[in-house]
Amino acid sequence: MNEQALRETVVDTCRRMNALGINQGTSGNVSARHGTGMLVSPSGVPYDRLGPETVVRVDADGSWGGEFRPSSEWRIHRDLLRERSDINAVVHAHPVYCTVLAIRRMEIPPLHYMIAAAGGSNIRCANYATFGTAELSENVLQAMRGRDACLLANHGVLAVGHDLERALWLAVEVEALARQYVLSLQIGGPTLLTNEEIERVLAKFSDYGHRRADARHER
Ligand SMILES: [Zn+2]
Repeated sequence: MNEQALRETVVDTCRRMNALGINQGTSGNVSARHGTGMLVSPSGVPYDRLGPETVVRVDADGSWGGEFRPSSEWRIHRDLLRERSDINAVVHAHPVYCTVLAIRRMEIPPLHYMIAAAGGSNIRCANYATFGTAELSENVLQAMRGRDACLLANHGVLAVGHDLERALWLAVEVEALARQYVLSLQIGGPTLLTNEEIERVLAKFSDYGHRRADARHER
């Protein structure tokens, strides 16, 4: 995808986060790999004023130019894209149910087979650190080992994918799981699936061509 098309996709993904109800105000931010750096949503621009020209190109060393500042969480995006050659996109938001669990510093257990869409039998909650810090980025990298999504303590959720569509889809799925978990806790707590069952589901997802096909299959 050329730079202009990718800038438009970043803007479109921000708007879709709001339309899908997983964002709180303008707190969400998204990025996509571009060359050796990334294109990331800007800081402090209301979503109705977002345009391709407001998307910020950040180089691998964290430098950027132009009139718009990148999202305050640019470091998490940069570090994930640097560490994970298998992904090209990162979506971060503060949806209600993920954030409620993150406030309780709870991970999401295997209460539904769709947990495997994030790569394993749980979705971890990254340890707390102040937003925008290198420490938070390190905590996220740790929680994301072997996973495509995690919660951020007292903060929100993060999901990655081979493209923005997949990362956004996964963020929505994780919010659905969080909601199911919170509600099931209110009626006595969930009956969890076994690790063996999650292994079986992971194998089935990979049969479908996993990261692409299961998104279509389950939407
Ligand atoms: Zn945030």
